[in-house]
This record gives sequence, C-alpha cells and structure tokens, in this order.
Amino acid sequence: MQRRTFIKTSALGSMAFNCGPWITEEKTHILTLSFDDGFKKSFYKVAKIYEEYDQSACFNVIASGHLPGFKQVDDYILPDLMGNFDDWNTLKARGHEVMPHSWKHLNLASQPVEKAKELIVQCLDYFSDHLEGYDNEASVFNFPYNSSTPELEEFVLSKVLALRSRELPREEQTNVFRQGCRSMGPENIDHWVEEQVNSFLRTSGGWLILNVHGLDGEGWGPMSSDYLDRLIKRLSIIKTLDMLPTGKALLKHTNE
Ligand SMILES: [Zn+2]
Repeated sequence: MQRRTFIKTSALGSMAFNCGPWITEEKTHILTLSFDDGFKKSFYKVAKIYEEYDQSACFNVIASGHLPGFKQVDDYILPDLMGNFDDWNTLKARGHEVMPHSWKHLNLASQPVEKAKELIVQCLDYFSDHLEGYDNEASVFNFPYNSSTPELEEFVLSKVLALRSRELPREEQTNVFRQGCRSMGPENIDHWVEEQVNSFLRTSGGWLILNVHGLDGEGWGPMSSDYLDRLIKRLSIIKTLDMLPTGKALLKHTNE
C-alpha cells in the first residue's frame, strides 16, 4: 500500500489531493520530510544539506526540550541532544520551518483530556513567546507519536492552521487542514525512505509526508547524512517535484 497523505482542498471540493490535476502542470508531486523532536546536531546537519540544494527543511520541536526539567523520552529523546530556541530561531531565519511538536512529548491521547489541552496550549504559548515570527494561524501542530483523539484534534484545529497525526482511512479524510503521516524505526531508515520516495514518484501525483527524526544514529529511525545528501541532491532537480515544509505546502497549494 502506498504510504501517502491525503488532503482535501476547498478549491477541489471533495477531491483528494492525489486524485487528479491538483497543483500546477509543472509541479505534480510534493514531498515533505517532516523531521521531529529537536535534535540539535542532526537539525543543523539537515539544514546544511537542504541549503546546499536551495531547499527548506521542515522541523518540529518539543517546546520544553531545552529546559532543565525536561525528561528523557523512551530510549531516543535525550535531554543532552536537544537544541534550544536560539537554535530554532537561527534555523528559521535561514529559511527553514519550525513547528510545534508538543510541550514535553507525552502521548496526548492517553492523558486526561483537560490535561492534554493544557499541554497543547502551553506548547503553543511558548512558541508564540520564543519563536520569532511564529503565528498560530500559519502553524502545524505535530502530535507526538502521531497519536490523537477526535476531541483533541478539534481543539487543536480551533487554534492552528493544521495538525499532523495518524493517517486516516480515506473516507474519513474530511478536513482540508488535516494531515496524516507514516514513519519507520527504530533502526536506520535509508532504505525505507528510498522505497517510499521512489514508489511515490512513480504515481501520477500527490503529496507524500514522511515523518523522520535525526541523522547518523540520533533519534528513533535515523537516516544517514550521506544518504540524505544524495537524496536531496537527486530530488532537487526533478522539475515536477516541489519539496516543501508542511506549513508552506498548505499555504501555497490551498491558496491556488
Ligand atoms: Zn516525537
């Protein structure tokens, strides 16, 4: 099965993004590698690779990852590896997208609902106060573990432009600003990314969002920098492909 994301647009009525001529004749495919968690070393490496080929990367960071009280999450998100908002402001100023990935990376679907909502607000408020130029109205909230509930999704969509969460069955994809996505781990995912991208490029068009993490051993399901460099180099010269961060992709292609 294709691991793709579907989005409905108001412009196309009930037509899903991958169903037909939906962007422009030149750009038939959008690819987003959505990098999670906020690994300082990896994110600077990713930024450098994207910049080499004149592309913008898509970063999603944990709002409290750099604060003294931040606790390790699973085996992969270690406080020592996380960047801070000086880093995120630097990367944003260099043309990359930085979006919220929760306050402290709890599985929000398994929290009491009021607690989960408080954590979401705390995250968005921190972004508003600390990320220069940040605007909820242009923001994509990326649920930790891509785990959400209909109530939390509704709550999030009352505050931001879009959310990223689990991929929905096609018949349930009703919201223009709702993205699902797939990820793979915990081992190196170079081969998985290659397969996903290649099979996507063989389709007639659409938007593929892969949720990835760090590079060179950092994070759950890392890629290698050498592979990412080769991939972005190869993809950046495909004329029909737009490589965009999620927020930019939504703003660009839903306004057309
Ligand atoms: Zn995460």
